[in-house]
Amino acid sequence: SLKGKAAIVTGSTSGIGQGIAEALAAAGADVMLNGFGDADAVERQRAGLERDHGVKAVFSAADMSKPDQIKAMVADAEAAFGKVDILVNNAGIQTVAAVEEFPDDRWELIQAINLSSNFYAIKAAMPGMKARNWGRIVNIASAHGLVASPYKVAYVAAKHGVVGLTKVVALETAQMNITCNAICPGFVKTPLVEGQIGEQARANDMTEEQVVRDVILASQPSKRFVGIDELGALTVFLCGDQASSITGTSLSVDGGWTAR
Ligand code: NAD
Repeated sequence: SLKGKAAIVTGSTSGIGQGIAEALAAAGADVMLNGFGDADAVERQRAGLERDHGVKAVFSAADMSKPDQIKAMVADAEAAFGKVDILVNNAGIQTVAAVEEFPDDRWELIQAINLSSNFYAIKAAMPGMKARNWGRIVNIASAHGLVASPYKVAYVAAKHGVVGLTKVVALETAQMNITCNAICPGFVKTPLVEGQIGEQARANDMTEEQVVRDVILASQPSKRFVGIDELGALTVFLCGDQASSITGTSLSVDGGWTAR
């Protein structure tokens, strides 16, 4: 049980982050939600966590491309809960384009949100974790943190960076009760991937059904999308005491993709 623990899940108003926040709350943790979205929908989600799981849930609208807002988010969580025990760096965006056409501003934004936000959030949460001698950091990287695909230069570079950052933080905290790991999912059917299905269909002049079958699930030997609930369960396990020796590693949850 994670009762009495306090968590931040970045990018938790949608998709994988939303599922991880729900799983942590179901395990008893207080949760700070974060991300963009309709204010009423976010408030329903926040109130739902409190109602369904009897935990405290708060929301931060911090923009993960802005270091000052990330620092303020961690400070707000420490004020609301008295501490941050669990940090899940999940916020991420994608752009699909050939390298010579890849927009400069999208390269910069993807590095900021998908990679640098992890650094700034860890940097802000670490002093408290060290002071209490307990912490769990879970970075949601990707199969694209380990292998590449064409047209995703910024995303693949950023996610490889997350895997490297994860190892360094794990080494620095290895003698404390703090772990830092990366989860590397294959394709999960979330709004992020639904957007890519449309983009790839237009770029390759294919139907969306052809893209799912021949492009997306072509790289995933299981031939099915990874479930959000599977990522929530793994995150809860990594946050438990029985995962205390799992640190600095990348856990693939990809239906065999990176085994090829
Ligand atoms: P999603 O688009 O459904 O959700 C992304 C979340 O991040 C949303 O809550 C959004 O509001 C938030 N967000 C985006 N920009 C933000 C910003 N600047 N500041 C704060 N929040 C911001 O995406 P998802 O598919 O659930 O992806 C979540 C993570 O999982 C990402 O890091 C993604 O790279 C990774 N991932 C996804 C897949 C997949 O197949 N869906 C596979 C591997 C890894």
